[in-house]
Amino acid sequence: MSQLNDNIARAQDYMRRFRDRGVLNHINGESLAADSGKTFETLSPVDLAPLANVACGGASDIDRAVQAAEKAFKTWSKTPGKERRAILIKVAEAIEARAEEIAFTECMDTGQSLRFMSKAAIRGAANFRFFADKAPQAEDGQALRNDTQMNVTSRRPLGPIGVITPWNTPFMLSTWKIAPALASGCTVVHKPAEFSPMTAKLLVEIAEEAGLPKGVLNLVNGFGEDAGKALTEHPGIKAVAFVGESRTGQLIMAQAAPTLKRFHFELGGKNPVVVFDDADIDRAVNAASFMIYSLNGERCTSSSRLLVQDTIYEEFTRRVAEVANGVKVGHPLDPDTVVGPLIHPEHEEKVLSYFDKAREEGATVAAGGEKVGDAGCFVRPTLFTNARNDMTIAQEEIFGPVLTAIPFKDEEEALRLANDTQYGLAAYLWTNDLDRAMRLTDELEAGMIWVNSENVRHLPSPFGGVKASGIGRDGGDWSFDFYMETVNVSFPRKAHPVPKLG
Ligand code: NAD
Repeated sequence: MSQLNDNIARAQDYMRRFRDRGVLNHINGESLAADSGKTFETLSPVDLAPLANVACGGASDIDRAVQAAEKAFKTWSKTPGKERRAILIKVAEAIEARAEEIAFTECMDTGQSLRFMSKAAIRGAANFRFFADKAPQAEDGQALRNDTQMNVTSRRPLGPIGVITPWNTPFMLSTWKIAPALASGCTVVHKPAEFSPMTAKLLVEIAEEAGLPKGVLNLVNGFGEDAGKALTEHPGIKAVAFVGESRTGQLIMAQAAPTLKRFHFELGGKNPVVVFDDADIDRAVNAASFMIYSLNGERCTSSSRLLVQDTIYEEFTRRVAEVANGVKVGHPLDPDTVVGPLIHPEHEEKVLSYFDKAREEGATVAAGGEKVGDAGCFVRPTLFTNARNDMTIAQEEIFGPVLTAIPFKDEEEALRLANDTQYGLAAYLWTNDLDRAMRLTDELEAGMIWVNSENVRHLPSPFGGVKASGIGRDGGDWSFDFYMETVNVSFPRKAHPVPKLG
């Protein structure tokens, strides 16, 4: 049997339970259908065959999950950090033990290729380990004194958190939000994306089998406008950690305004990779191609705008086109596949509409620009050249393996083009001139800037965007600042004169 057939058979074995019993909600340790009894189908992006029925939760399911999270918060928030750490490390180990099941399920549910997804579970486990290790010190604060006072700060977990996640790399992204929330002593109600619900169910089951008490992590599936909206409006939810589109972030902010919640938003991007002619061109070609054609380009930090100095523009774009034409598009479980099918026909239609738009606007299709085959949501890795930054393909987030290349003359123009976008998530800068790197990194409007590198994550460093790309930072201690409330207690250092009135 070929490796692909073997992988497909193993994936079917892993997913059989979902096909037979559906993807249920998980509240207070119990697998539950939606109160309404309604379900929706999740489809395989490979051939559009239904993979499973998913519980279609609504307001009453959310309410039940929030009540469970509120009850569990009473004990979880008081569980010593060392004990929380021990449990979360066990969760990380349990994730590692089931890494293949998570990866195969994720590939089939999202269309992301195994080449990249095989690391998703490991990355998820690393998130749990990293934040688990910080749990014992999470509540520690500072001692701030002056002549008359000693101020002591400490941090307390906020309460039940609503975590709302998108469909791209759903397992890894969910752990990125859920692990620090749990390490802080918060409890969670998770609403995963309707296009990719499966691995969220695996996560909550794995966590409870590893010792996470019931009700600490709860899962409600459903649509954004029902289950998602109800979660953001629920008064028992103290903060919303949201990853998704900028437009959805706007809606959530409005929905949650009457209950005055804290927000953390990780939103869209149209990230520039800026390449000067003094850069290491081989490395820059590989990094720019990797950051748009890996993970199907369905990646918030993808380098979707390629800004190249005009002196090397022709050569550079020719080489990126060669990469685009050379990568394998295929079944996500084929070990050689780089680009799998896009998540869903609706999303595929959106991506294909930009191919038409690019031609209408006068860009050149230097690679791809078309659908592959009739079945499934496969599109060819695409490069548009001769583009301008005011074109739709340079301004809107396409969220597929689609790169728009624009030439620039000098540093001033490069900076102007890079910043001429509503977004500000990531920027990639390629130059061997240190002074130029210093100048530009001061001016680029992005929350994260990688110099002479693709996106390489470092968990203690802050992750997040500026402008329409987000509010707040995750990573390191930044996560704890979000999931915890800082409290200041002031003690007099001596009997100071208290003002007397009257
Ligand atoms: P989306 O905004 O459509 O959906 C994300 C989640 O929000 C889903 O679970 C959805 O059900 C829910 N939702 C939708 N409407 C809602 C509402 N009114 N109230 C509450 N919840 C609601 O995003 P998507 O299409 O699933 O994901 C792709 C987007 O996510 C892209 O824009 C991408 O850039 C972004 N993203 C950002 C980051 C980052 O770190 N900045 C990371 C990954 C993805």
